[in-house]
Amino acid sequence: MGSIAQNLAEIQEEISNACLRAGREPNAVKLIAISKKKSAEAILDAYQAGQRDFGENYVQEFLAKKRDLLLAQCQINWHFTGHLQSNKIKSVIDQVSMIQTIDKLSTAEAVSKRAEQAGLTMPILMEVNISNEYSKSGFDPDEVLSAADSISELPHVELHGLMTIGSPDLSVVGMEFYHMRKLLEEVAKNSPNPDNVCELSMGMSQDYDIAIQEGATMVRIGTSIFGAR
Ligand SMILES: *Cc1c(COP(=O)(O)O)cnc(C)c1O
Repeated sequence: MGSIAQNLAEIQEEISNACLRAGREPNAVKLIAISKKKSAEAILDAYQAGQRDFGENYVQEFLAKKRDLLLAQCQINWHFTGHLQSNKIKSVIDQVSMIQTIDKLSTAEAVSKRAEQAGLTMPILMEVNISNEYSKSGFDPDEVLSAADSISELPHVELHGLMTIGSPDLSVVGMEFYHMRKLLEEVAKNSPNPDNVCELSMGMSQDYDIAIQEGATMVRIGTSIFGAR
């Protein structure tokens, strides 16, 4: 692997190419650099190479690195991409620009409540368990529509779309991502704000080109940027 800056440049190039192959605008997909278990220095390298969106999975680790990076004057858009325990919501609510991993209704309700107390409205994605046996968290695809209905009634969360982790089997992941896009279309159609429900966060180091082919608007890449964890 090259340096973090070289890796980022290569991935951005591959993202643009995948967009063009799919008949999409070359800038149609946002790269989220997943920096869990990587140091603040590694994040700073990526930041200095122009990367602005980062995803973190572990609350304590995230808050410590965020403090260091603020001291370095970094203006980062942080996405929370880990499993969010309800007792940790309070710590992240005013620290992230999006929570991508809302995996049950009670979490969405708790986020809305904490957001209200913090005087904000939190952009969220619903995590969908599309691969079933592989992933442990996320809404069942069959319950996404009714859960999205309930979420749209919550005053301090704003549903922007869906997120998933595809199965590691590359022969089925394309079907899963296709299914995700169909689900997003249904959720948007039923939503009181259809234009807001437009984000599809899917695709990681192994499968982001497939995800872009199937309509991802955000890809979440860790290993191919920062190396193995
Ligand atoms: C770790 C992680 C990623 C990045 O995976 P890589 O295979 O390292 O690219 C993406 N999304 C989520 C939710 C993750 O936890």
